[in-house]
Amino acid sequence: MNIRYKSTRNSDSTVTASEAILKGLAEDGGLFVPEQIPKLSVSVDELRGMSYQETAYTVMKEFLTDFTEEELRECIRKAYDSKFDTEEIVPIVNVDGVYYLELFHGATIAFKDMALSILPHLLTVSAKKNRVENEIVILTATSGDTGKAAMAGFADVEGTRIIVFYPKNGVSKIQELQMATQKGKNVAVVAIHGNFDSAQSGVKAMFENKELAEELNTHGYQFSSANSINIGRLVPQVAYYVYAYGKLLEQGQIRSGEEINVVVPTGNFGNILAAYYAKQMGIPIGRLICASNENKVLFDFFRTGAYDKKHREFVLTTSPSMDILISSNLERLIYQIAGCDDKKNAELMSALQKEGVYEITEDMKAGLLDFEAGYATEEQTASMIHEVYEKTGYVMDTHTAVAAYVCREYQARTKDTAKCVIASTASPYKFVKSVMSSIDGSYAAQDEFSLLEELKKVSGRELPSAIREILHADILHTLECDVDNMEQTVRNLLDL
Ligand SMILES: *Cc1c(COP(=O)(O)O)cnc(C)c1O
Repeated sequence: MNIRYKSTRNSDSTVTASEAILKGLAEDGGLFVPEQIPKLSVSVDELRGMSYQETAYTVMKEFLTDFTEEELRECIRKAYDSKFDTEEIVPIVNVDGVYYLELFHGATIAFKDMALSILPHLLTVSAKKNRVENEIVILTATSGDTGKAAMAGFADVEGTRIIVFYPKNGVSKIQELQMATQKGKNVAVVAIHGNFDSAQSGVKAMFENKELAEELNTHGYQFSSANSINIGRLVPQVAYYVYAYGKLLEQGQIRSGEEINVVVPTGNFGNILAAYYAKQMGIPIGRLICASNENKVLFDFFRTGAYDKKHREFVLTTSPSMDILISSNLERLIYQIAGCDDKKNAELMSALQKEGVYEITEDMKAGLLDFEAGYATEEQTASMIHEVYEKTGYVMDTHTAVAAYVCREYQARTKDTAKCVIASTASPYKFVKSVMSSIDGSYAAQDEFSLLEELKKVSGRELPSAIREILHADILHTLECDVDNMEQTVRNLLDL
């Protein structure tokens, strides 16, 4: 079957997968969605024993139908290789009866590597396919993890440049250092004086700016996106949920067809949307449990049907990659539960932009039955890290801990006994200070770098190379700008 993609705000015309990957965002500001979610071409039993790479191929070929088998296999081979510190790519660890799907074994030790190690390859193949001669400028807003993972993926990739914006005081020390030390002739990093939502809105505005697009074109450039608004990021993420199911079957942890629940620590709603797509492809997933930190706009949305970013304060938490109030991928779900009504969706998104709020209809609410939501406060997150460590010795990062807390709360509340898979999104090394202070308050006085050694002792995990390499690396990027100056900064960087 040939799958084409349409915009969530105007579904009149469609594009191929490679065109959608190149564009990133649709011209009307909408997000590309597949015309339908394809089914897996194999039964769940056939997933048993499949390698990660084979599973990724099985999933991605259904979505990226204008890629040849050879092209896609080559992208997968280049992406999921020894950049990962384990041959399994994504280990599943059973801790106290729940399954942690460790998505952080790639080059930058966060789950963003799962998609961003393959996106540059998908993009260069797409450029060739569509005879693009312009240099592609990847414009990215990051809450901390996407930026580094995208730069690592795109560094010195021919025909591309990458510009990353991150919130100056909104990322961990390790995250900031990871970005500031990034090598590569084609990379630029800018700290903005604002939060992630401002960074994301600024980037989206540049994508929608037609004049800017024309000017870029005359200079031989065009924009694309490495954020999860790009379908080329979402599709590779579906693969690990499919893989997890196959692995649990293979290990005899579940019976064929048995429903599992998936708990995802959520910010921009990309990772959990990928799980939803996996379910629609045919993976027996019962509940999709959306876990928020104190920026619980999604929790409130699932509870009330009203998405309201206006009547709340943005808070900085110890899980900064989820400090988001405008959850951009939710638009793909809204579109789907509106019966793929582009006008209705566009109306709601425009209300969000103008008034900071929208409310879905009763009919649409019925489309949310697959989802559950919960949130964890800062204290609950810290105590989760502490308790699991004390009981089992397993050390998890703050984002994963938000999900673990929500999972436990859900199980206690509903008595649902389905097995739970928790998307474990970052290595504890990335958020070492918050993790160690949760394990023992006395660590709070130590600096991040001395704590790395302590974490190694308590967790028994090797210091990842992602950390080793930044310890003595030179700072290469110190650029900062105001939110209002993002476009000018891009112009300067590209000599427009
Ligand atoms: C990006 C990120 C998240 C949130 O993922 P979304 O796809 O934006 O919902 C959660 N945890 C970590 C560590 C992340 O980097």
